Amino acid sequence: MTPVYLDHNATTPMRPEAVAAMVEASRVVGNASSTHGFGRAMRGRVDRARERVAELVGAKPGDVVFTAGGTEANNAVLRGAGRARVVVSAIEHDSARLAVEAREEIPVAADGRVDLASLDRMLSASDVPAIVSVMLANNETGVMQPVAEAARLARRAGALVHCDAVQAAGKTAIDVAALDVDFLTLSAHKLGGPQGVGAIVVRGISGFDPLTRGGGQERGRRAGTENVAGIAAFGAAIGALADDVDATARMSRLRDRLEAALRAVYPAVVVHGASAPRLANTSCVSMPGVAARTQSMALDLAGFAVGAGSACSSGKVSPSHVLAAMGVDADDAASAIRVSVGWTTTDVEIDRFVAAWREVFARLSPAARLAAAA
Ligand code: PLP
Repeated sequence: MTPVYLDHNATTPMRPEAVAAMVEASRVVGNASSTHGFGRAMRGRVDRARERVAELVGAKPGDVVFTAGGTEANNAVLRGAGRARVVVSAIEHDSARLAVEAREEIPVAADGRVDLASLDRMLSASDVPAIVSVMLANNETGVMQPVAEAARLARRAGALVHCDAVQAAGKTAIDVAALDVDFLTLSAHKLGGPQGVGAIVVRGISGFDPLTRGGGQERGRRAGTENVAGIAAFGAAIGALADDVDATARMSRLRDRLEAALRAVYPAVVVHGASAPRLANTSCVSMPGVAARTQSMALDLAGFAVGAGSACSSGKVSPSHVLAAMGVDADDAASAIRVSVGWTTTDVEIDRFVAAWREVFARLSPAARLAAAA
């Protein structure tokens, strides 16, 4: 049987429109910095994509700086914004959380949402100029974060605000003005574009010290010849998203069906962050007594790809700093997998996955044996 891919938060298949744009731009020659016709045609592709990225988040095209992905964007902002204090939520993706060594972490509540009272206290405890970084939606649990509220507190304390919107983009509407952030991070491959392309949306007069120098590209904010094929594909993916108007509703229905079916198998199943507003596509679910690695291997053998642990990073299965920050007990955290549906997911795939989960649960979980004996 065809394997089923349910790890769309790690990366999602490219939209055909994005593949076509990538191939089209790869077939022609030209450096976007050259002033001749070949160069100007390449520049045109970059500019069109820039407009689409800006539109996606309600920004101006001039605010968009293309990067080689979300990791670079987070690093560029948090290391380059010139603020001595870097205050990040405890559940940020490692590319934000570990961008600077001397970080301060904002705790989160048990439901997975950033604790605003703690942020307020942290900000008023020092006059050192800060940048605050709070993601729009968490990659492991899907829990949406109170970014606009965090920004309000940050502004009052004179801090800059950064938001990693990598997982939220394409799954929920984003308006940088309503969020009132100075910097926003995007990544193409989470929304149907290619891997290795991303963007920083820089609002107003905010600036950052570039990570790369030695070229005037991106108005001096990111030196290096642009990845035109990737950038064009990023823009095309956003266009395809805009045309697929019911994608979020579809994902939401599939995710809810999946969780209801798992509850029917095991009523006490724990879905992390389920009491908070979440992305439409993400489910972080524990199978009692079965290590995430064991589950993901068993499911992989059966033909299902899911995320295990902090699976966003290089296939490693390590305890999740996100679940730890939420105060999830070590056993529950160790048995959590992430199931994330995407624009290609179907009802049949969900049914097949639930059957496989039921089989692994019955075979490996002590909770299934207890339930059977009761
Ligand atoms: N931020 C979040 C929330 C992510 O989930 C990821 C995914 O890996 C990244 C940043 C990194 O983005 P990229 O893979 O484009 O470097």
